[in-house]
Amino acid sequence: MANEEEPKNHVFGVKDLSHKTLLQSDALYQYILETSVYPREHECLKELREMTEKHPRNLMATPPDEGQLLSMLIKLINAKNTLEIGVYTGYSLLSTALALPPDGKILALDVNREYYELGLPIIGKAGVAHKIDFKESPALPFLDELLEDENKKGTFDFVFVDADKNNYLNYHKRVIDLVKVGGLIGYDNTLWAGSVAASPDAPFMDYIKPLRGYVMELNKYLAQDSRIEICQLPVGDGITLCRRII
Ligand code: SAM
Ligand code: CA
Repeated sequence: MANEEEPKNHVFGVKDLSHKTLLQSDALYQYILETSVYPREHECLKELREMTEKHPRNLMATPPDEGQLLSMLIKLINAKNTLEIGVYTGYSLLSTALALPPDGKILALDVNREYYELGLPIIGKAGVAHKIDFKESPALPFLDELLEDENKKGTFDFVFVDADKNNYLNYHKRVIDLVKVGGLIGYDNTLWAGSVAASPDAPFMDYIKPLRGYVMELNKYLAQDSRIEICQLPVGDGITLCRRII
């Protein structure tokens, strides 16, 4: 039975770029974008966003308001060494690279180099390609390899996880040892188009249902993990910030 608070005829999922937010009003989201985000968006981020809008898998891209949040967080914690899992065409990557100091570094992992190469000329134009060490690899074995080196443990100031949702818990079990104490991990899409709070028989778009359980499992796990403090924000599709405390 559908949850009584679910709006009638609501199908959980994102259909197009005009509604990449959980805010219930498109007009309010447009207001945020037009008032506070677009006027501040770096010209290369704008170019990358507009290029990505034409790509068939554009719904995967980080929305610009979330890019702004990532940039703010990176500057607030004075991050220098970061890890990104799930690059696509690079909107979050370029947001991070622009926010880092000139000697900042990003280790960026994705199974698909072709997506990254779509954005790379624009990242180069922004003058920050030298900060990026891109590795084309499934993330799990790569993280396992990193963890074999004791010197890599506790070295990242900031980690952004935005890849295959069914592996988020596996990523957490590894990333927690790679981020430094006091460092920050951001797990993206943790509200999964609002579906995490819907009844199981609510109407979901095809891509939502198979991964919903994994996102819910991650959310429960993070809430009881005493190694971190957490804050789940309804920005974009939901981002859970985890600060490592031990
Ligand atoms: N952060 C990106 C942005 O700002 O546009 C969006 C990332 S997109 C949601 C997810 C990415 O994860 C895709 O580019 C996909 O190729 C990558 N991916 C999927 N499974 C992966 C895996 N097992 N290891 C590494 N990357 C993976
Ligand atoms: Ca995402």
